[in-house]
Amino acid sequence: MKECNQCGKCCINYSCGGLTASTSEIEYWEIHRPDIYKYVSNGNIWMNPDTGKQIELCPWLRKTPNENTYTCDIYLNRPDDCKFYPVNIEDMIKDECEMLEPPDLCNPNQAEKILNQLMADSRRSFGE
Ligand code: SF4
Ligand code: SF4
Repeated sequence: MKECNQCGKCCINYSCGGLTASTSEIEYWEIHRPDIYKYVSNGNIWMNPDTGKQIELCPWLRKTPNENTYTCDIYLNRPDDCKFYPVNIEDMIKDECEMLEPPDLCNPNQAEKILNQLMADSRRSFGE
């Protein structure tokens, strides 16, 4: 199991209707981050502020110039869904997450333990 290499696949795969935000996250954005809140409609993210329709690619996903990596423009205020990904080995295999290495497939229980260690910081910010 490697650290995330910011390949962007998860953001690209899930940003078109695959992410949810809690009521408390949405309320926080409404008060403190109206720039994020404007992409919420009827409790759904990420919606076009002009049309109210789902946006295909997350508006906060930024490609690093001249590299095949991506960053998040709202990293500290991203939804908890994003803070928790990857959640388990099954999803990582399905999504072709690049943190996976061949030994992880042979021993998924051990891989999940390492995943939980690697994700501790990201998940610790849950609810902040
Ligand atoms: S909010 Fe950030 S982490 Fe979440 S899908 Fe968008 S770019 Fe990715
Ligand atoms: S798919 Fe995996 S390696 Fe790629 S950005 Fe997402 S978590 Fe990181």
